[in-house]
Amino acid sequence: LFFHNCWLNFVSSQSQDRLCLQFLWDFITAKEPLIKSPYFPVLFSFTAYMTFCLPYIALDFLSTRLPNLRKYKIQPQSYPTLGMMVPCIIQSAYHHVVLIFPVTFFHWYWRPVNLPVVAPELPEVLLEVGICLLLFDFEYFLWHLLHHRVPWLYKTFHKVHHKHVSTFALTTQYSSVWELLSLGFFAAINPVLLRCHPLTEMIFFLVNIWLSVEDHSGYDLPWSTHRLVPFGLYGGAPHHDLHHLKFKSNYAPYFTHWDRLFGTFTELHSH
Ligand SMILES: [Zn+2]
Ligand SMILES: [Zn+2]
Repeated sequence: LFFHNCWLNFVSSQSQDRLCLQFLWDFITAKEPLIKSPYFPVLFSFTAYMTFCLPYIALDFLSTRLPNLRKYKIQPQSYPTLGMMVPCIIQSAYHHVVLIFPVTFFHWYWRPVNLPVVAPELPEVLLEVGICLLLFDFEYFLWHLLHHRVPWLYKTFHKVHHKHVSTFALTTQYSSVWELLSLGFFAAINPVLLRCHPLTEMIFFLVNIWLSVEDHSGYDLPWSTHRLVPFGLYGGAPHHDLHHLKFKSNYAPYFTHWDRLFGTFTELHSH
């Protein structure tokens, strides 16, 4: 009887998860004209990016006035100014309009959006988002390593992103057209390869944008992702900050296993 009850509990919790995701999915698909519009991907991407940058921009302005917050800054000696932030916003908006929009428009035309009625299961979403992140991490690691090892590639495509030795949230997408396109391609191809549900795909894009912004935020907060993932498996903000500071290590954007395996891993400097 005990096991039977456990099983019933398990089944009902499964269907509750399902109901919760179905509720969310119904809410999203109710806005079908927006989701199916050719403008949706670029609006989604830009809005998510700016929204995730916003709390860090606020933190940058607050912590210059409140010394208590300064202890969370990885490089407390350097703070971004408005004059540094504005060109990043302009470049990002420009790239979304002249680059990301034409690409996503072509994609929209070539592969029309299909919205299934049924939402995916929560375990399936979690597993697939995890796999998409691991794949993206590996693809960017190889791309990144190559662009540091081949001087021509570095100078032509990746140097722009290294303009800021001390990063802040808005430097996340401060990069060349080729780099932005490659990253967009890596992010977009994984859910297609795994045949993910559109909801899973959206969640992966959001998580990916959030993690890339957190990487460049310049803050090591108590709830930062690398503090939530055990055994130092996740590098996050301190890991990528060190890459911008020292250039020659920490090529993987999120996890640490590829850098450990390739001998390019550097531990956080203490301060
Ligand atoms: Zn780099
Ligand atoms: Zn970076």
